[in-house]
Amino acid sequence: MFEQVKLDYAADGLEPYIDRLTVETHYGKHHAAYTKAFNDAVAAAGLEGKSTWEIFKGLADVVDPAVRKALRNNGGGYFNHNLYFENFSASPAKAPTGALAAAIDKTFGSLDALKAELKKTALGQFGSGWAWLNTDAAGNLSVTASANQDNPIMDADGLTPILALDVWEHAYYLNYKNLRASYIDAYFEVLDWAKVSAKYDAAVK
Ligand code: MN
Repeated sequence: MFEQVKLDYAADGLEPYIDRLTVETHYGKHHAAYTKAFNDAVAAAGLEGKSTWEIFKGLADVVDPAVRKALRNNGGGYFNHNLYFENFSASPAKAPTGALAAAIDKTFGSLDALKAELKKTALGQFGSGWAWLNTDAAGNLSVTASANQDNPIMDADGLTPILALDVWEHAYYLNYKNLRASYIDAYFEVLDWAKVSAKYDAAVK
């Protein structure tokens, strides 16, 4: 049984950057609905006990196209939002440390340059989707985008997403209306780079 990540901040703990009603709706309604539908699809497919990684990598083997689609869309919705919500903090570390800090400097030149690349990628995602910071097992970083609720585990081999930037309109429309760029700037104000750094350390062998 897959469960939503528990938030270590209050619904209004990310204000004024991400407002209370957006957190309540996004986490409490959208993410909750993806999680329930994913668990239903896992049961329908007889995949109880498998990890999300195993399920995403095995999608091509799911025979029933409706079940395969439900696993992809709702499994992505479940997993992607866990990563999105758990990387926020009410008192975030504003910069990465250790190995991630060094890898960002090596790959992008600076943290600001990485943020600019993520923002450009997120703004360039036509319609609903996500921008990602990924690492491979050797620690090489990449920025990618996915449509819908797809993610780099489904889309590519050997990538682990460590930062998830949701650019579905439900992530920002209540507060920022059509201003996706303003929402992206606000996202970085509550993104906890200590949490991203820990995910990088865990993913690199
Ligand atoms: Mn979302």
